[in-house]
Amino acid sequence: MVYLDNNATTPLDPVVAEKMCWFLKEHFGNPSSLYPIGRAVKEIITQARETVAGAIGAQRSELVFTGSGTEADNFAIRGVLDSYPEKDEIITSAVEHPAVLRVANFLEKKGLKVTYVPVDRYGTVDLDFLRDAITPRTALISIMYANNEIGTIQPIEEIVRIAAKSGVLVHTDAVQAFGKIDFDVRKLGVDLLSLSAHKIYGPKGVGALYIRKGIDICPFIHGGHQERGRRAGTENTIGIVGFGAAARVLMERGKKDRERIEKLAAALKNGIEEKIPKVRFNGHPKNRVENTVNVVFPGLEAEAVLLALATKGISVSTGSACTEESEEVSYVLLSIGLPPEIARSAIRMSLGRFNTDEDIALVLRELPEVIEKLRRISAFDPEE
Ligand code: PLP
Repeated sequence: MVYLDNNATTPLDPVVAEKMCWFLKEHFGNPSSLYPIGRAVKEIITQARETVAGAIGAQRSELVFTGSGTEADNFAIRGVLDSYPEKDEIITSAVEHPAVLRVANFLEKKGLKVTYVPVDRYGTVDLDFLRDAITPRTALISIMYANNEIGTIQPIEEIVRIAAKSGVLVHTDAVQAFGKIDFDVRKLGVDLLSLSAHKIYGPKGVGALYIRKGIDICPFIHGGHQERGRRAGTENTIGIVGFGAAARVLMERGKKDRERIEKLAAALKNGIEEKIPKVRFNGHPKNRVENTVNVVFPGLEAEAVLLALATKGISVSTGSACTEESEEVSYVLLSIGLPPEIARSAIRMSLGRFNTDEDIALVLRELPEVIEKLRRISAFDPEE
């Protein structure tokens, strides 16, 4: 089996699995309990928090564990709006993940003003548009760091500089950037940043929100005093332990992995270009996470390609896993200006830590054949 959908989720790293199994067998305490069984778990969670925070250059007191990357995004946006009731505008982009876009749509229906910054053909946000959209009523700018479908990296430091002139807070959804690019929250300068464990070879169902020291945001979930009162509910201890272990592995081998993945992705792209006529890659040519290869095969329906590859044991995606089951055309691809019939032919292949040279060789053997067969059936004329 060749798994090329690492932007949807990553396999659990065996080191992480081992740590989680150890924890499950050895610890069951509630971290809020004051006796040793509880204190031990509290200490383990503190270590995990320290590791995840350290991986992004934050202090552990600045990190709140959440139930997912989606929750971290929701928390950031709603938390800021709730703590600035006099402000009723937010700015985001047209290519955000649904975890941000759907919240924005929901708030818009409730009367909030949301400005969606457009992107150019590479998927980069229009900074002049963004600058002009800021008003004294703007509470927050939320722009993703790396796009999940096409891999484009947004100029976050630049956005922070623009926002700072008007004293507007900046949130970035770094779910797809974490592990794929090196970054430090201090250098980046953002106020809030979302993470998710299952994109870095950790478990599903656990995320985190970095909240810069001094930023006061309203809790999203009310109840007990967990997470220093910022996110109530008994902690997902096993998930947090896995997140910490995954972040540790990332710090140890992330750089090497990235170099290897970059080479594999380049080989995949070059091979596709050589062997298949009339293909086009989406995303920024340079400012991008290298693991993401988004390619269009004009004349074909992406679903047909996906299913044909699945029969060969190759797992790819037609875009975002969240829109996979709907018939919708990718709004990200429409936003970069692709006509719907071209956007419908896009396949996303996202590489990860466990991919090998053999995986790429197999794809480059099977994919050209699949495309040729499907194009023959669809009477596609590459000369047209
Ligand atoms: N943001 C981005 C950019 C993502 O790609 C994803 C997941 O695909 C999420 C947020 C949501 O993260 P989670 O699956 O942990 O809710």
